[in-house]
Amino acid sequence: MGLEKDAAKAELSAVLSRIAFYQHRLMAEASRSLLIVIQGRDASGKDGLVRHVMSGLNPAGVRVTSFKVPSGSEVEHDYLWRCHAATPARGEIGVWNRSHYEDILVPRVKELVDEETWRRRYNHIRDFERLLVDEGTRVAKFYLHVSHEVQRQRLQKRVDNPESGWKHNPSDLSDRAIWPRYEKAYEELLEETSRPHAPWYIIPADVKWGRDLVFAKIFLGILEDMEPQLPKPDESLRGITVT
Ligand code: AMP
Ligand code: MG
Repeated sequence: MGLEKDAAKAELSAVLSRIAFYQHRLMAEASRSLLIVIQGRDASGKDGLVRHVMSGLNPAGVRVTSFKVPSGSEVEHDYLWRCHAATPARGEIGVWNRSHYEDILVPRVKELVDEETWRRRYNHIRDFERLLVDEGTRVAKFYLHVSHEVQRQRLQKRVDNPESGWKHNPSDLSDRAIWPRYEKAYEELLEETSRPHAPWYIIPADVKWGRDLVFAKIFLGILEDMEPQLPKPDESLRGITVT
């Protein structure tokens, strides 16, 4: 296990430097963007993933947004309003820690709205992602899959450890108590909203270093596929002397 973990860490650092190489080109090209959506249950490792994988990037070109329970002006608008405002600009990588998908999951499992209301959101979201893709944003969505038992261990560790107690939220336990409802809601959601132009990737998340590496490799694959290019230098400037 130790050797495997060390090898994975070495591989991760090689993958991260390739990601940084492409990010530099994406910023220079400044014509397209990439949106990475991260979903997963409490303690599935969304924050850790962002910390480990995004730390190698140029922060000037990354925009991380953590979506919380909507409040203030957010609830005064349609649910996509705050999401649209957080989309990455040209040249940027946007990372969403939770997303518009919470607006199907939470109202559904907690029965906050009727079925027709949450169900028609599949359509809104498919159209929203289509719009982003058509207008130059690549969209990739990641579901961090943590098992019931590993979630229990992590939540227990949080409450036992004074350094991580702040992460605990009473809703983590009430959400855990309705695990099968979330399971059903997630299964259907992944099915309804995975599309070739905006796919879902399922990341096994019980082992943290495995989670980071699997995610980073897919992230790199997407950037390789996008092939961002450095803009061509202005030919008329060739040979001039800067005085
Ligand atoms: P955390 O990710 O641990 O900081 O917790 C954020 C909390 O906000 C989670 O319990 C989410 O389910 C909740 N949340 C985020 N977005 C929404 C939303 N659109 N509707 C309801 N709850 C949300
Ligand atoms: Mg939480």
